Amino acid sequence: MHQTEKAPVGRFAPTPSGRMHLGNVFAALIAWLSVKSRGGYLVLRMEDLDTQRTSGEFADLLRSDLRWLGLDWDLETDPQSQRSAVYDQYFQKLEQMGLLYPCYCTRSQLHSVNAPHLSDGTYVYAGTCRNLTEAQKAAFGRAPAWRVKVPDRIWTVEDLAQGTYTENLLSDCGDFVVRRADGVYVYQLAVTVDDGEAGVTEVVRGMDLLSSAPRQMYLQELFGFQHPAYGHVPMLLAPDGRRLSKRDKDMDLGFLQAHTTPEALLGLLGYACGILDTQQPISARELATEFSWNKLKPQDIYLDISSLL
Ligand SMILES: [Zn+2]
Repeated sequence: MHQTEKAPVGRFAPTPSGRMHLGNVFAALIAWLSVKSRGGYLVLRMEDLDTQRTSGEFADLLRSDLRWLGLDWDLETDPQSQRSAVYDQYFQKLEQMGLLYPCYCTRSQLHSVNAPHLSDGTYVYAGTCRNLTEAQKAAFGRAPAWRVKVPDRIWTVEDLAQGTYTENLLSDCGDFVVRRADGVYVYQLAVTVDDGEAGVTEVVRGMDLLSSAPRQMYLQELFGFQHPAYGHVPMLLAPDGRRLSKRDKDMDLGFLQAHTTPEALLGLLGYACGILDTQQPISARELATEFSWNKLKPQDIYLDISSLL
C-alpha cells in the first residue's frame, strides 16, 4: 500500500534578548530549509522564560529580521512567559508519577560535590536530596528546586547533522531540575511541553543543545509525546577559528542589514555550510531547492563576512 509522508513540522525558538546574530540566523535558516524543502511547516516561539533579559521589542526585531531574510513561519505559538499554567499541569503529572523530589542544594554545593557532566562541563547530580526525611526538608526553611528522577538507561539520538549521540541520564547527567526554587520552570520542561503540544516533528537548533536532547526525550516519553527528529547544527567560526558570538558586533543583523542584502548573506551561509558549491546571491526559496542534510557540514563552518562588506 502506498503511504504518503506527513508534512514535517519544524520550529524556531529564539530567546528575544538582543538583536539576531549570525549564529541564530544559521540555526533558523537550516530549520526553515529542512521543512520547506519537503513542503512542511515552521512554528515560531519566543523563549522568554528569563523575563529580566528578554523584551517585546527584541521579539519584534527578531520577527522583522526573519522577514528580511525571507524566513517566514506558519504559526507563532504563545511565548513561554505566558505558559506557566500549562507547565504546572505537566509538573503535576510528574508529581503524580512519584518522580519529583525537592532539592535544597546551593550552587556551591552542587559544584563541589558533583562530578562534571561528560559532554558539556556542567556537573552530574549525585542524588544528594533523593531521600531526605520530612524533618530534614523542614529544617532548610526555604523553597526548594524540584528535580525529576532519571532511569539508568541509555538514550540514543540519531542526529541529522551529528550522527549518533548516546547518553545514560543517570551516570552522565543525574536527576535534573524541572522547576527552580523561585518557581520558574526550566528550559528542558518548557521546550518539551511546547514542542510536544505544537506537534513539532523535527527540532533543529545549535550544537550546544545536543546534550539536552536525551533529557527532553525522557520527558517526551513521560508526557506521552512522540520523539521528534533532531538536527544540531554546528557553531559558526571566524576565519581564525574563534567561535562567533553575540559579542562580535559585525555579526548582528542591525549591522549586516546596513551593509548587505539578504540574498548575499544567504549565499555566503549556503556556501560556507556546504549546501552551495559556489558563493552566489540566492533567495531562501531557491536555497530550499538545493538543501539536503547530506550536504551540510557537521562541524567547522568558517564564515568570512568580509566578502559581503
Ligand atoms: Zn540537592
